[in-house]
Amino acid sequence: MENHTSNFIKDIMIKDLESGKHDTIVTRFPPEPNGYLHIGHAKSIVLNFGLADEFNGKTNLRFDDTNPLKEDVEYVNSIKEDVKWLGFEWDNLCFASNYFDEMYKRAVLLIKKGLAYVDDLNADEIREYRGTLTEPGKESPYRNRSIEENLDLFERMKNGEFASGEKVLRAKIDMASPNINLRDPVLYRISHATHHNTGDKWCIYPMYAFAHPLEDAIEGVTHSICTIEFEDQRPLYNWVIEQCEMENVPQQIEFGRLNLTNTVMSKRKLKQLVDEKVVDGWDDPRMPTISGMRRRGFTPESIRTFVRETAVSKNNATVDVEMLEHFVREDLKLKAPRTMGVIRPLKVVITNYPEGQIELLDAEINPENPEMGTRKIPFSREIYIEQDDFMENPPKKYFRLFPGNEVRLKHAYFIKCEEVVKDANGKIIELRCTYDPETKSGTGFTGRKVKGTIHWVEAAHAVPAEFRLYEPLILEESDDEEKSFLDKVNPNSLAVYHGFVEPNMKECQPHDKFQFFRHGYFNVDPKDTTADHLVFNRIVSLKSSFKL
Ligand code: ATP
Ligand code: MG
Repeated sequence: MENHTSNFIKDIMIKDLESGKHDTIVTRFPPEPNGYLHIGHAKSIVLNFGLADEFNGKTNLRFDDTNPLKEDVEYVNSIKEDVKWLGFEWDNLCFASNYFDEMYKRAVLLIKKGLAYVDDLNADEIREYRGTLTEPGKESPYRNRSIEENLDLFERMKNGEFASGEKVLRAKIDMASPNINLRDPVLYRISHATHHNTGDKWCIYPMYAFAHPLEDAIEGVTHSICTIEFEDQRPLYNWVIEQCEMENVPQQIEFGRLNLTNTVMSKRKLKQLVDEKVVDGWDDPRMPTISGMRRRGFTPESIRTFVRETAVSKNNATVDVEMLEHFVREDLKLKAPRTMGVIRPLKVVITNYPEGQIELLDAEINPENPEMGTRKIPFSREIYIEQDDFMENPPKKYFRLFPGNEVRLKHAYFIKCEEVVKDANGKIIELRCTYDPETKSGTGFTGRKVKGTIHWVEAAHAVPAEFRLYEPLILEESDDEEKSFLDKVNPNSLAVYHGFVEPNMKECQPHDKFQFFRHGYFNVDPKDTTADHLVFNRIVSLKSSFKL
């Protein structure tokens, strides 16, 4: 698979191998199963799996499932599917919840060392006592409980003697530390909730800041790659590893998050879009989730390449979504068969073409990849063209069809518009044209030139199809916190049309990808397509202003 260009994380790994600090690289991708993966996660996946691969190391897929209220097996399954689809294989499938016994023991060790205590302050009080960036915190009145009392209370917490939220276990570090994370952080909380993996065995659950370093150490992770907001937690990460006397000492390394223009990325917000039915599920093709992008038609290659081309740095970065679109065009350019589809059909009758005659025209499947061969497309007296390719009163420089004008039908003949047929309301329902048999495509006709080439589908054999065209789901980003992001949802993010495709498309299968002449790249929708109803999702249009 593709290699990473140099980046600071790779440099650290090289140095650690050269110095003998490690003889192999072990990484992990640690999602919390509280939602579906999104394109931001792809960055972390590519870094963790990709870097370990480069050094013949190992990568675990680890579910960071320490919060039973938000987690679900539906999410576990979708995450596994998405990681595989992106092209990565984990060495071990791990669950943080499998280490609850070990974590409990380490917490007891901290208590025995006088480094942890049970606190009766409630969440609000703990926050109040914590102090601010400019003021030191205050010590809890329960901070100096004896080791025996703490051991007893912690065990009783585990045994379910207290209500959710009634007590917590805290590390005893330094309430005056300039790093607020070190002001006696909470290590365990009580939550009488059923866990997707451990059921009702536990009613106390470790906090992320305590659990994560232990998970890494237990698995022998050498480089624990995480996003930049955890930088201030690194001293606590190291404190936990050291004071819990873990044998393996992983190194936490932070990098900047990947964000995209016109995209919300946090799972909380994506879940809100799903729950409030703004979109049709986590895999709605407008969603930046891996499953949504797969359904839209993005390929794993294009996502990997995109992610690799975004810098690995210490700063969060917002990347233009057009860069992602650029890479899927690049990937599909040689792979996707070309075809013609009419999204908004207008009937055209070619009056001088013999009635009842059908001819089969040759067309290349992909002119940029001649090895893909040719296809046959029927042509006859009645065809559909795109409504947008005709104007009754065209402006200057309109080169498509208008009364009296001649255009080329792609792969076929020149036609000239002779008459416009309207219904009683004045709506255009049909064009009557003539064709010139001399102008057949591929015969080397040079008699005269036309400026416009338009696409079409023969009417009698046309296959009805639904086309779904997308615009960005989110209109703009702004830091206007007053405005809920739901107010920025684009009301026109989905447009549905019913048109026609070439007859040979009848055979196509879910996830087949095509380039429709002039319309862009499309994917056969895997959910709503049936034997007699084809649905095409537009992945991207053809043109982009984006330059690498
Ligand atoms: P979100 O805020 O979207 O819910 P998260 O960080 O809470 O994301 P996790 O399930 O904890 O989600 O993420 C798993 C891994 O993916 C973490 O190591 C996290 O840092 C990384 N990750 C999440 N979002 C991004 C992003 N936008 N860019 C890069 N890495 C990300
Ligand atoms: Mg999270």
